[in-house]
Amino acid sequence: MSMEQKILIVDDSEMNRAILTDILGGEYDIIEAENGVEGVANIQKYGVEIALVLLDVVMPVMDGFGVLDMMHKHRWIEDIPVIMISSESGSAFVERAYELGVSDFISRPFDALVVHRRVVNTILLYAKQKKLISMVADQIYENEQQSNLMIDILSHIVEFRNGESGQHVRHVHTLTELLLTNLVQRTDRYPLTRRDISMISTASALHDIGKISIDEAILNKPGKLTDEEFIIMKSHSRIGADMLEGLTMYQDEPLVKTAYQICRWHHERYDGRGYPDGLKGDEIPISAQIVALADVYDALTSERVYKKAFSHDTAVEMIVAGKCGAFNPLVLECLMDVAPRLQEELGKEGKSYGSTDDVNNLAREMMSSEELTVSGRTLQLLEREREKYSFFAAMSQEIQFEYNTSPPMLTLSPWGAERLDISELVMDPGNNPRVLELLGPNVWDDVVKLLRATDPEKPVIQYDFKLHLGEESRWHRVVARAMWSPDEPREYQGAIGKAIDIHDSRTRLEDLERAATHDAMTGLLNHASAKKLIEDRLDDLKCNYALVIFDLDHFKSANDTYGHMFGDEVLKHMAEKLKQSVRGSDIAARVGGDEFLFFVRYEEEVEPIVSRIFHALIGQYEDFTISVSMGIACADTVGRVYDNLFRAADQALYAVKRAGRGKYRFYDDSMSQMLSVISPIDKTGDIVENKDR
Ligand code: GH3
Ligand code: MG
Repeated sequence: MSMEQKILIVDDSEMNRAILTDILGGEYDIIEAENGVEGVANIQKYGVEIALVLLDVVMPVMDGFGVLDMMHKHRWIEDIPVIMISSESGSAFVERAYELGVSDFISRPFDALVVHRRVVNTILLYAKQKKLISMVADQIYENEQQSNLMIDILSHIVEFRNGESGQHVRHVHTLTELLLTNLVQRTDRYPLTRRDISMISTASALHDIGKISIDEAILNKPGKLTDEEFIIMKSHSRIGADMLEGLTMYQDEPLVKTAYQICRWHHERYDGRGYPDGLKGDEIPISAQIVALADVYDALTSERVYKKAFSHDTAVEMIVAGKCGAFNPLVLECLMDVAPRLQEELGKEGKSYGSTDDVNNLAREMMSSEELTVSGRTLQLLEREREKYSFFAAMSQEIQFEYNTSPPMLTLSPWGAERLDISELVMDPGNNPRVLELLGPNVWDDVVKLLRATDPEKPVIQYDFKLHLGEESRWHRVVARAMWSPDEPREYQGAIGKAIDIHDSRTRLEDLERAATHDAMTGLLNHASAKKLIEDRLDDLKCNYALVIFDLDHFKSANDTYGHMFGDEVLKHMAEKLKQSVRGSDIAARVGGDEFLFFVRYEEEVEPIVSRIFHALIGQYEDFTISVSMGIACADTVGRVYDNLFRAADQALYAVKRAGRGKYRFYDDSMSQMLSVISPIDKTGDIVENKDR
């Protein structure tokens, strides 16, 4: 094996490799790879023997970014520096390269001197950093070894006096570490680093140090303590804290500060009924809360002069049932989470820094927290994206949402939440009564089903439904994009999207589909554009017009019985029938979902026209029997304001649905009485505002 440092050149152009070899070959041992896959194979083979990788971007088989991805996955990027070389120098491109952890970026054409200098610098820098990490690691290891030893000795003295097993301190240490690790995984309420966790675990050994000054007769009394004795016993927490406070020179040491908290407050209770200070809830430092639980668990499962040992299960049960003090519910959840592993873990010898690997990782963490690292940069970018997103969401007057599956959680834009009269954050939305009220039955499940059925390559869905806002129901269209996990196997993780009011022609639908005046699925006009056309016609006072709205009966059962695709077919079939039945000069449109409209001009009587179309629409489509409910409003009775006509026809349709479906009916005044929930319409065609609202 060569003693020279190795440089791996990954580039598909033989000439480029030759040029780079020329520049560097004198001092380094050059390995060449023709594409990303070969490059990765070489990294796998030589590992950290490679002092640096020079990486081209555009290559066959696997490109430079692919190599970087692999280096990330295997964490090689932490040990092997990469310089990317490319003729692409756009800032987004360079940014991406840096985000993926490259140390430097050289754009083509390059200067031989520059390449040489940068390669040498990068290699030196990495070597220095590695040395530094290992020095810090050695130091930590040494310090830890010593302080662990001291703490071990000290706590053994205490244990010995207490007549404890000699294992108690070690167990509390291990339990504390397990519980804290679990805690930070489940919440960021207590922002503890790995360093903090290990420090708290170390400090936990001192929790009973104050017992050193308690009379042995009380400490080891087999029977119940008298009130007086109990007061003396209880003083150990304050005494321990005082002892630590006496170490005036070390008051700034985090370990001493933490040990102080633990000593003083490991007998406080979450409900405020503990001692010595009666602290409550999170007034008790989390270090003391955790050590308190660890202490109780180990005391229960060990034999003491005054009691037998309880089994693991009994101990957990007793603690969770609140028989041994009051604990933070979150901390109890941690206990239940780690419970299955406890016995095994306690069986092992617990030492804070067992392996050199641990120490190295810790050292790396310490080093990198000082400066902005690659992952720090990425986080910062993400944070900016998040800010941007929440700013736009707050500004937009739209019902925007984000849905996550685990935990099931719906987040709404502020405007959307206000419009729907629901909070911005809804947990378990599928079972939320307000969501159900807004959407009616099935809609939530239908949409989730559709999202789940998407393909990561084609994640966008569209779905129409009636939104029930107070006493008003309006067709809305939800356009959503399913979110799939980036890694294989791709997992459905939720969705983002918005719901748009289809009835309201001034809405975002127009922006969204700007040019599209037609419904994508049926090819009919959409409601917004139909409305515009109809409004133009209504201005012509010479003609008689009727607006007809119809809705399929029990259409949901077509979806439920034969599937959503079949449902779509039925809708397309309906649209086709409708197109064939109206005259060229009439207007036909899909309002949304299974609701359609048509607008006809007539000379004397409209009923024969409506009746003909009604009968053309109904009948059989495969196994599904098509029945429709239809409402008609005539301009000569309702007036020539489109919205009023629409509302009147809708009311007539609703009257048919209520009376049993499958018929058509003209709007008459009795309906406005019956449906006073919607603003009644007066003879002039103006809407009479309902004063109660
Ligand atoms: P009703 O007799 O009262 O009209 O009952 P219905 O079952 O027809 O239900 P309703 O009109 O209230 O709702 C229509 C349903 O149509 C809601 C939704 O499940 C379904 N739907 C909406 N848009 C589409 C679509 O684009 N394709 C398919 N296949 N189904 C849709
Ligand atoms: Mg229907």
